Amino acid sequence: MTSAPPPELSPSPPAGARPEVLVECTEVVKTYQTAASLLGRRSMRAVDGVSFTVTAGSVMGLVGETGSGKSTTGRLVLGLERPTSGRVVFAGQDLASMSGGDLRRLRRQMQPVAQDPYSALNGRMRVSEILAEPFIVHRTVPKAQIRRQTEELVDLVGLPADSLDRYPHEFSGGQRQRIVIARAIALQPRLIVCDEPLSALDVSVQSQIINLLRRLQAEFSLTYLFISHDLGIVRLLCDTVAVMYLGQLMELASRDALFDAPAHPYTRALLASVPVSDPLERRSRARRPLGGEAERDPTTSQGCPFQARCPLAEEECRQRRPEWRQVEPGHFVACHLAGPGHPAA
Ligand code: SF4
Repeated sequence: MTSAPPPELSPSPPAGARPEVLVECTEVVKTYQTAASLLGRRSMRAVDGVSFTVTAGSVMGLVGETGSGKSTTGRLVLGLERPTSGRVVFAGQDLASMSGGDLRRLRRQMQPVAQDPYSALNGRMRVSEILAEPFIVHRTVPKAQIRRQTEELVDLVGLPADSLDRYPHEFSGGQRQRIVIARAIALQPRLIVCDEPLSALDVSVQSQIINLLRRLQAEFSLTYLFISHDLGIVRLLCDTVAVMYLGQLMELASRDALFDAPAHPYTRALLASVPVSDPLERRSRARRPLGGEAERDPTTSQGCPFQARCPLAEEECRQRRPEWRQVEPGHFVACHLAGPGHPAA
């Protein structure tokens, strides 16, 4: 591995050209069967009609509370789950229509970085073996060159060369996450799906990993789908942000639009719950604490999924599911009352 962008990575588009869409999700639904009830089997929609695109070379944040469907969406994008309906397209290829072999080959281009660096690494393998595994499995590098490649990987993620001969338990949490990231970039992927990659780390270590992710993104033109419940980190790292609630998208916008002018009551409640140190900003915030919990309530299965917790809910919200509308260029929201001239605006 070299620090120069590999040939298969997309070069920057010429000025005026439309940026390449790397990931396209269209009306994606993922349903799971839950325990049988007296009335028969019930299914649960973990992801419910989600549509979004991720541009090559960008960082898209996916935020929401536990159970919002963020991680399932990440697994669908990686092709680790098949959608119940809808389409997930990566680099122009519909994942559901691919054979197992083709999908395995395509997966070299998309890699996960999981939440827990402790369980993500096989404790019985040396770091050299962990990092060599992708090259061996996918046969991308001659055997004689694998050691050299693993040396470059540890160097790229800021670990000393002697890390290769050690075992995962000999490293701190932050160092282990560096090993996980090194393994993720080994095959020079185009997309990395980071699922809460910092939540198991100390705050001081988090900023080091953020810097590493940023540096690697710039160096290799990587695209990230960054799943997190931490809006502070999302604000630092992401270009666009999508907000999920009970499996549905509530809002999608550029980072600045979402943080400066959130249009959905749920997004505003999430932002209001983020602690801020600046007293002026604290005072200027519309404080609408988010009461209750995100629960699927069969009695409110029609209408807006957020109606039970929304301070603005009205009759229409109980009757009709809000459409996914563009309220400003590039700013989408699912709320009857959002947008210019509406009370939620
Ligand atoms: Fe609240 Fe109604 Fe908008 Fe849903 S549609 S977020 S209930 S105002």
